[in-house]
Amino acid sequence: MKRRAFVGALGVGAAATLAGCQKEAKECVATSDQPTVSKKVIEWNMVTTWPKNFQGLGESAERLAQNIARLSGGRMKVNVLGAGELVPALQVFDTVAAGTVQMGHGASYYWKGKMPVSPIFSAVPFGLNAQEMNGWLYHGGGLNLWQELYAPLGLLPMPAGNSGVQMAGWFNKEINSLDDIQGLKMRIPGLGGEVFKRAGGTPELIPGAELFSALERGRIDATEWVGPYNDLAFGLHKAAKYYYYPGWHEPGTTLEAIININALQQLPTDLQEIVKAACTQANYDTLSFFTSKNNEALSELLDVHKVQLKKLPQDVLDKFESISEQVVQELAETSDFARKVYESFSRYKQQVYSWHKVSEQAFYDLR
Ligand code: CA
Repeated sequence: MKRRAFVGALGVGAAATLAGCQKEAKECVATSDQPTVSKKVIEWNMVTTWPKNFQGLGESAERLAQNIARLSGGRMKVNVLGAGELVPALQVFDTVAAGTVQMGHGASYYWKGKMPVSPIFSAVPFGLNAQEMNGWLYHGGGLNLWQELYAPLGLLPMPAGNSGVQMAGWFNKEINSLDDIQGLKMRIPGLGGEVFKRAGGTPELIPGAELFSALERGRIDATEWVGPYNDLAFGLHKAAKYYYYPGWHEPGTTLEAIININALQQLPTDLQEIVKAACTQANYDTLSFFTSKNNEALSELLDVHKVQLKKLPQDVLDKFESISEQVVQELAETSDFARKVYESFSRYKQQVYSWHKVSEQAFYDLR
């Protein structure tokens, strides 16, 4: 019902905007075979949870703004405001919801305090990779549920970037068994952090900007960040000896665009679709970008900087996996809606794992 009401409201808003445009003839071009188009450049602001021009994730926000400008033929301009420019990173959600700015860029796991089930739409330990996540969101009902979750707050979420499988992180101590995790101080946020804690580790919450000094000065023993491209840019190889894989905690992190629904409704119908299409383009393009850049960066880390690449021991991964199942299942207990999201995600995960076992996985094992 909520979904239908929301879609209906979009239609009414768009009709009202077109009617307004038709009245102001100077700003409109109308011919018999063309849609009514305003010549006035519509300017939006986008706040992000990333520092301005921050490699990888911040570039994804810039890419989204450029997509909107390009696809709209210059009819729309989006100014990207990095974390701290207008508001701190963790106020992005509230700022867009309040309508202070029209849109934001971040990741849904940042809003776990408001909506405990929200991390399912960004990164789930031992969950879905990028390809699988996009399948669930676009064609498996995931995006409808995500939009239903944000709609009461006046926000429309759209996938707008994916990191691909991340790395387990940088460690100053070698990890040979589960014993080495005990008491280990590691920067690892979100659901992964909770899993790490239950496995005996000590998760620390440290903003990205402070990671390098925290690791270098021994305030933490280890940190996860993103993958080779972002990690190399941060110089994390200068602060830790060992680079571990795989990124069990973030196997295909989805970045999000959050759009103020009132602001969206004030756009002509075609621009509403362009904003959404620009998000989809940014989602796929960011994944392509990371796929291309991560392998170059990994080569540099190994060949030039002589980083020691290691796989986490099997007993550690097995423990993380069993705890992850428990942690994700607990999300379902937080509300009836959360249960609906969890059930959709779990059902899809089971099916896509079976399919990818004989397709993607079989091919990876073969090559
Ligand atoms: Ca990460």
